[in-house]
Amino acid sequence: MSEYRARFRCIAGCDEEYPLDEVVYQCRKCGGLLEVRHDLNLLKRRSAQQWRRLFDSRKGATRWPYGSGIWSKKEWVVPEIDNDNIVSMFEGNTNLFWARRFGEMLGMNDLWVKMCGNSHTGSFKDLGMTVLVSVVNDMIKRGKKIKAVACASTGDTSAALAAYAAYAGIPSVVFLPRNKISTAQLVQPMANGSIVLSLDTDFDGCMNIVKQITEDKSIYLGNSMNSLRIEGQKTISIEMAQQFDWEVPDAIIIPGGNLGNVSALGSGFSMMLDLGLIKRKPRIVVAQAEKANPLYLSYLTGFKEFKPVTPQKTLASAIQIGDPVSVRKAITTLIKFDGIVEQASEDELANAAALADRTGLYSCPHTGVAFAVLIKLIEKQVLSRNDRTIVISTAHGLKFSEFKIGYHEGALKEAVSRYANRPIELQPDIDKIGEVLEREFRERNS
Ligand SMILES: *Cc1c(COP(=O)(O)O)cnc(C)c1O
Repeated sequence: MSEYRARFRCIAGCDEEYPLDEVVYQCRKCGGLLEVRHDLNLLKRRSAQQWRRLFDSRKGATRWPYGSGIWSKKEWVVPEIDNDNIVSMFEGNTNLFWARRFGEMLGMNDLWVKMCGNSHTGSFKDLGMTVLVSVVNDMIKRGKKIKAVACASTGDTSAALAAYAAYAGIPSVVFLPRNKISTAQLVQPMANGSIVLSLDTDFDGCMNIVKQITEDKSIYLGNSMNSLRIEGQKTISIEMAQQFDWEVPDAIIIPGGNLGNVSALGSGFSMMLDLGLIKRKPRIVVAQAEKANPLYLSYLTGFKEFKPVTPQKTLASAIQIGDPVSVRKAITTLIKFDGIVEQASEDELANAAALADRTGLYSCPHTGVAFAVLIKLIEKQVLSRNDRTIVISTAHGLKFSEFKIGYHEGALKEAVSRYANRPIELQPDIDKIGEVLEREFRERNS
């Protein structure tokens, strides 16, 4: 038995409380979302110093399951789960990329990129999925009748769900909006043996279907309205603090779609504040694509109003969401963390990604949205050039080859490719090659 304890609680404050191994996603009284609430009094039995030491002692370890960036914080995630039932690929522990040249271009000297796409399925969705699938696996092992896990997805959630389910030997079902995700993302759940259903609708339409399908409790819901996902995703905050020797950055920029991840960021920092591991809060910035910007529009009203939008097609396909499930949690987080919401156009996101790539990155379009927002906020002097700023890179650029190729071919509809770099086709003629190289060196130096 663990000495720590966590339960599902209603975010609206109803008195409801459910164990984490109950199949429930919404408050039975008010229908609102749930969150995982930890018993902080029990966690306070260890001092901040003891927690920091414990987490540091597990860094880089191989001992099961603590080699994972998520399960190295197990007591803060799902304390009561049996270690043997955890489904982990030692995800997390992603590197911080010190963006020296990119920062210099923007006049910044302390710019970092948290490379969450350097992970098993190539996006930060692995962080939450290890937790969700572990809890499902634990339920199955203890005799609960669960046939499958299911999710609606803009691509990355389904890739993560399919991989973790396959690792555990649990069937999975994924609902994808037809022609609205990249080929690389579509092929991931296919490869992992998922039941892949491609629907003639958008993400919000798929979400609607999966909610109905999972009313049958033997099919478990894998979307981030299931707050177990947030528990895994929140460890990114703890990991970033740890990577800076428990110093808190000034600002963090994260692209937002369904808005579970911004809530998760806030939740990780809140827990560290409550338990004394850190003393101050970072500023949190959500970056949205102009084509799917309901949170940005709400921010302009001071969060007084929120209206879902019909999302338009955007290169940042993983955040093409008009009716975000976790909007309430996200707004609460932004109010607490002096939050900002900014948007980026197709042209801005594509060129920001390409500019960053020139300094050694390989940015997905969502990370491009975050970079474009960074550039805007520095220009508007909302963020200071000396601030320690971390941009969360949410997926690997290799999952978005169509975007990269389209950019460099100048074939993107709504972006002018200012940093396009085409291959030069030549005969294998040494003199001609010498001439061309001289020309290119001259042009690139000017
Ligand atoms: C899921 C996802 C996001 C957005 O996260 P939300 O929690 O839905 O706001 C951003 N970028 C990528 C690559 C994603 O897969």
